Amino acid sequence: MHILILGGTAEARALAGLLHPHARVTSSLAGRVANPRLPVGEVRIGGFGGADGLARWIGEHGVDRVIDATHPFAERISSNAAAAAAVAHVPLLALRRPGWVPVEGDDWRDVGSLEEAAAALDGFGWGHLPGRSPRGRVFLTTGRMGLAAFADCPQWFLVRSVDAPEPPMPARTEVLLDRGPFTVDGERELLHRHRIDVLVTKDSGAAATAPKLEAAREAGVPVVMIRRPPVPQGVETAASPEEAAARVLGRAES
Ligand code: NAP
Repeated sequence: MHILILGGTAEARALAGLLHPHARVTSSLAGRVANPRLPVGEVRIGGFGGADGLARWIGEHGVDRVIDATHPFAERISSNAAAAAAVAHVPLLALRRPGWVPVEGDDWRDVGSLEEAAAALDGFGWGHLPGRSPRGRVFLTTGRMGLAAFADCPQWFLVRSVDAPEPPMPARTEVLLDRGPFTVDGERELLHRHRIDVLVTKDSGAAATAPKLEAAREAGVPVVMIRRPPVPQGVETAASPEEAAARVLGRAES
């Protein structure tokens, strides 16, 4: 059995490790990160050329199953995977870790997009936060793509990303290049050192990046939470690499 994993996430790497060597596994990466962590098994890098290109690739490489283990916000590749799997007549499973859920003490404002997150920043009454910059200090962890949505924001931004972001981005931006996993201690220190007023993040649900939420709760820092786009209609989902591997290999989950 030849399984194509659409990857770019820690879960995709874990899944490749569970399936290999029980099946032939090819992991596909978009090629966005300069020095990606590579999974076991075969790896290909770069786009397929849309849903048609992906369907062709599936046919030409004798792929029997596709697992969409991309980031929950990688909407285009997930929709291409659904279209390509239908055309190529191969089963598709989407691996989606559960989203984050607020607990007592959290102050989250849910929004549906990066643009809505940028607009939400105006609603914080910055002038009233004692001892803070009148225009606010924002910790932005939504990734280096999509900063254009915040380009006109007057606030000061700390942007954390794996690779350096490119303009357009907010005029007052400090970039912090780093890659998780992060710790609560580290995140607490970061919020304090940069006097952060608001955290803006995508609901990735990842354990490696969750400590910032705990640190924000402790510090009373509100969170603008960008909610996920839905999985394409009709696509089956698994919540963990273990569940996905068990389903694909036809075993009961241990
Ligand atoms: P996207 O907008 O959904 O996809 C844009 C295009 O990139 C796709 O049409 C496809 O090109 C190519 N592509 C995306 N994922 C691919 C993969 N795994 N293998 C081959 N080609 C792929 O994706 P994105 O949001 O830019 O994310 C790109 C990658 O980074 C994804 O693999 C995702 O798992 C990872 N990632 C994304 C985020 C995020 O916040 N969006 C965060 C962490 C990691 P063609 O149409 O030419 O095939």
